[in-house]
This record gives sequence, C-alpha cells and structure tokens, in this order.
Amino acid sequence: MDSVKKEPKEYKKENPIGLFGDHLNAIATGLKYFAKPQRITLKYPEESIRLPTGYRGLIRLYKDVCIGCTLCAMICPADAMKMMTQEGKKLPIINYGRCVFCGFCVDICPVDALKETGVHDVAFSNRRDLIFDPDKFNKNYDVPFTGVVRKVRAEVDEKKGIRYVPDS
Ligand code: SF4
Ligand code: SF4
Repeated sequence: MDSVKKEPKEYKKENPIGLFGDHLNAIATGLKYFAKPQRITLKYPEESIRLPTGYRGLIRLYKDVCIGCTLCAMICPADAMKMMTQEGKKLPIINYGRCVFCGFCVDICPVDALKETGVHDVAFSNRRDLIFDPDKFNKNYDVPFTGVVRKVRAEVDEKKGIRYVPDS
C-alpha cells in the first residue's frame, strides 16, 4: 500500500496591517472605558445580585422532619448523600465536595425535610469541612454575616509570591 505523503501544514502569514489595526482597536477600547468607566464587577459583599427564585445553594436538612427513608441518598447521582445513624435514627449527611447541586434529593424527599437555600458564598479550609453531618446539615446558614471583617491587602514577596498583610 502506498503511503500517503502529507504536505506540511501551511500557516497563513499574519498581515502586519491587520495586526496594527487590532492593536488600534484594543487601544481605542481602552480609551473608551478610560473616558467612560463601566464597572462590570460588584463591590461584594456591599453589593450583591438578587438571586432568582429557585436558586440552588446550600441545602438545609430539617432533622425533626426527616423520616430516614434514605431516598435522598439513593437518588443522588454524585454519591454525595449518605445515611448515618444518630441516636437510633437514620439521617442523611452531605459531602459538598461531591454535590453537583442538582436538587434531586430535595425533589424526592417525601416529607420536605430538605430545602434549598440561597447560600452560595461559603469557603472551606479543608475537605473534611465539606462533609456536613446531620447536626451541621441541620443548621441555618442563610443568615447575614455579622462578624468583623479584617481588611487585608496583597503584597508581592519576591521569594514567597503574594502575601496578605493587614490594611491599616
Ligand atoms: S443536590 Fe444532587 S448531588 Fe447534591 S446531594 Fe442532592 S442529589 Fe446529590
Ligand atoms: S428523603 Fe427526606 S425523609 Fe428521606 S432520608 Fe432523605 S431527608 Fe430524610
């Protein structure tokens, strides 16, 4: 069988005039926003967007309502929901490291023991914290943050990279 000779791929030569035009366009865009600034980010948390109805944030378990039927754990496509026994009662635990926020568990619960909240701005310092046992899962996280905010600023450290220092 004859081997098919492949022609070397030809790359189109850049048109210097076109490239210059692109640069001019970029400069014009920069000047436009310099003259008329248009902020596209929010000053979070002082500003935040209104979440749409049915937004699927963190899920809350209502322990007292749950009947331990295990349907939520069975339907979960991400293996994020498991059951554990607490004081003789079966209750779900959730691993937010796996959850894809599909809402199947909430929809299937026959007694409305799971509810979606609008909480989306949470951070965890390690993967263990992503697992909510029934007590943690039972807590209401949909409350405004009232703690003291520590202001910091970023500094570039030649050896360590970026580090954050108190902003006085
Ligand atoms: S929202 Fe979806 S992925 Fe998350 S625990 Fe429920 S069923 Fe599983
Ligand atoms: S589906 Fe509802 S009642 Fe059943 S175990 Fe899950 S949370 Fe409890």
